[in-house]
Amino acid sequence: MTMEREKLHIWDIPVDKVDRAKAMAIFDEMMAEPGCSMIVTPNSEIVMNASKDDELADLIREAELVIPDGIGLVYASKILGQPLNERVTGIDFADAALQKLAKEGKSVFFFGSKPDGGSGVSVAQMAAEKKMAEYPGLVVSGMRDGYFKPEDEDSIVAQINASGAELLLVALGSPKQEKFIQRHRGEFQNVRAAIGIGGSLDVWAGTLKRAPEFYQKHGLEWLYRLIQEPSRYKRMAALPLFMMKVVMTKGRKKNGN
Ligand code: UDP
Repeated sequence: MTMEREKLHIWDIPVDKVDRAKAMAIFDEMMAEPGCSMIVTPNSEIVMNASKDDELADLIREAELVIPDGIGLVYASKILGQPLNERVTGIDFADAALQKLAKEGKSVFFFGSKPDGGSGVSVAQMAAEKKMAEYPGLVVSGMRDGYFKPEDEDSIVAQINASGAELLLVALGSPKQEKFIQRHRGEFQNVRAAIGIGGSLDVWAGTLKRAPEFYQKHGLEWLYRLIQEPSRYKRMAALPLFMMKVVMTKGRKKNGN
């Protein structure tokens, strides 16, 4: 990586201060370099989890690109006095990457989500069909659902390698997806970049609705998700807790502790 980087530190977690254009420029560099780079897209829940999960914290520190996905990180950056201009959602970034791949004739592997999206076809395949129709020229050279046993991982890596894909999208939820990538990225032969994309395959497949534009614009996707899946309220408590912890950190810094 040669491009100059500015980083924001939320506790000991580094986040790249990037907008979408800069993130895409870094992605271009990754695709031109040997080895598999890792992109992570933390939101406040992931940053909170990283403070209790060393493996997750370490892999974020080792990732080649850490994109601020989540309005909580944008607020935190302002409170900490190192403002981020905007957040870049993982799904938008992945989408822009697919558009680019289609233009360049490079291929992608979709790994994750349910084996049946409701019509007997996997969510990954439904998403692939949608994206190939949207971006003519896009090659999805392999797919696999995200339900497997630890002993299946070697054959999954072999399948990814055999596909020849240069981009790997992993939709297993966090931190499973990030840990899978970190565990195996040294074994990938053609993959130049791998990214965990959470529920993005579901959104592309149409099995999960993305928040309408209003919610996206106002940073209220969490509210939309809460309305759709009220059982997530416990996980969502991470956002106010995260904000409180940031404010307390700021207070401690001011007092010189
Ligand atoms: N998923 C998977 N394997 C698993 C667990 C989850 O493929 O063992 C998929 C799930 O089907 C969904 C995606 O991971 O498509 C994201 O799951 P979830 O919404 O729980 O994760 P989040 O992104 O909210 O953390």
